[in-house]
Amino acid sequence: MSSKRVYIETFGCQMNVADTERAVTRLRASGYDILDSPESADILLFNTCSVRARAEQKVYNRIGETLKKAGKVEKIIGVMGCVAQLEGDSIFERAPKVNLVVGTRAVDRLPEIIGRVLDGEKRASDLGERRLDEGLDISPAERHSPYVAFVPIIEGCNKFCTYCIVPYSRGRERSRSATAILSEVNRLHADGYREVHLIGQNVNSYRPSNDVGLENFTGATPFSRLLRAVAGTGIARIKFTTSFPRDFHPDIMTAIEEQQNLCDWIHLPVQSGSDHILRRMRRGYNADYYKRLVDVIKQAKRPVAFTSDIIVGFPGETDEEFEQTLKLIEHCRYDAIYIFKYSERRGTPAAKLTDDVPSDVKAARFQALSSMQKTIQGRIHKSLIGKTLDVLVEGESAKSALDMTGHSTCHRVVNFSGGHSLAGRVVQVRVTDAKVNSLYGELMN
Ligand code: SF4
Repeated sequence: MSSKRVYIETFGCQMNVADTERAVTRLRASGYDILDSPESADILLFNTCSVRARAEQKVYNRIGETLKKAGKVEKIIGVMGCVAQLEGDSIFERAPKVNLVVGTRAVDRLPEIIGRVLDGEKRASDLGERRLDEGLDISPAERHSPYVAFVPIIEGCNKFCTYCIVPYSRGRERSRSATAILSEVNRLHADGYREVHLIGQNVNSYRPSNDVGLENFTGATPFSRLLRAVAGTGIARIKFTTSFPRDFHPDIMTAIEEQQNLCDWIHLPVQSGSDHILRRMRRGYNADYYKRLVDVIKQAKRPVAFTSDIIVGFPGETDEEFEQTLKLIEHCRYDAIYIFKYSERRGTPAAKLTDDVPSDVKAARFQALSSMQKTIQGRIHKSLIGKTLDVLVEGESAKSALDMTGHSTCHRVVNFSGGHSLAGRVVQVRVTDAKVNSLYGELMN
């Protein structure tokens, strides 16, 4: 094969988006062309997600569809990401057209793995470890946005919630060194990025192997020291996600109060309001503990937007237990929630429990939660009318070519009438109208 044109399709979370950016950086540096569509590519890569069984099936369907379209044209097919890490070489049996299996920690070696197939190996796989601080550079051209950058600070998870596959697909927690993170943020700042998202399955479990880079920063935990250190780079806006309740130290709120460039948004997934279900999920906290954290967040001098994830229909969840989740939502008055209907993930402890909540009950609980949240969210959004928000302008609104769109520091989508020259700037927008999922406003400066 003479040309080396690659197409990568990404499924799932921000960690996968960051891995794709890294893979593309590596591939381009090795002489590959990256295409926006699969038709004329020689190599098709699928960076996969396995958080839900459906997501995994979707990948196999997508591979089938793409190959059907390609007809008789020979292509190299690679599966990357969580499905690759979990299923390993068995993917070659399930999808015999696949030539490459590249685990979550092997992304940086992608050019070499492809090289093995180009050199004649029929099937190549790499499920080895990542060298955390090496080869993590992402070229600005490959970032998903020229203004907002994802910066992974920790990979993997040690929590082993019973329903979750991540500790198996991403491995145990491994924190990047503070020096590597700070030098990446400094570079992004110098390159004109306005916002960084410090990302990881549980960012507040951040525990680097040494203190280098954090010596001059105070804080009750390595994560709150890192927040102060990243704030010290002077980059305009810093967001972080996801936080794990059990590791959420109040000092995170103190850091947010102190440092203006730490954004006023916390994503703290609760999953359920029932102590019994939280125990069966092995989340390591109960509803009272979580409510105490909520009080700390709500009492902050600087108001902070607060979002969560909820699973409905976990095995054994009774009507009363679901009611407790509704009560918790009422108590927390989240700015947004992401609701998931429980679905079994093969290989997790919860898969041994009977998935006994009927699908119509899961759907009804989903609806009840969603409509309660819409009412809460609608009220919160209405209360923002007349207020002025700092918005990072990210581009044209999907709904109208006359409008621009961006996110506020509190991570709300804000649309307003304005020109394309504003893209990349932080502007002040006065909110004039509120929908459940977005705000509309007028440009102030
Ligand atoms: S904390 Fe729980 S839900 Fe989150 S990644 Fe770890 S195991 Fe999964």
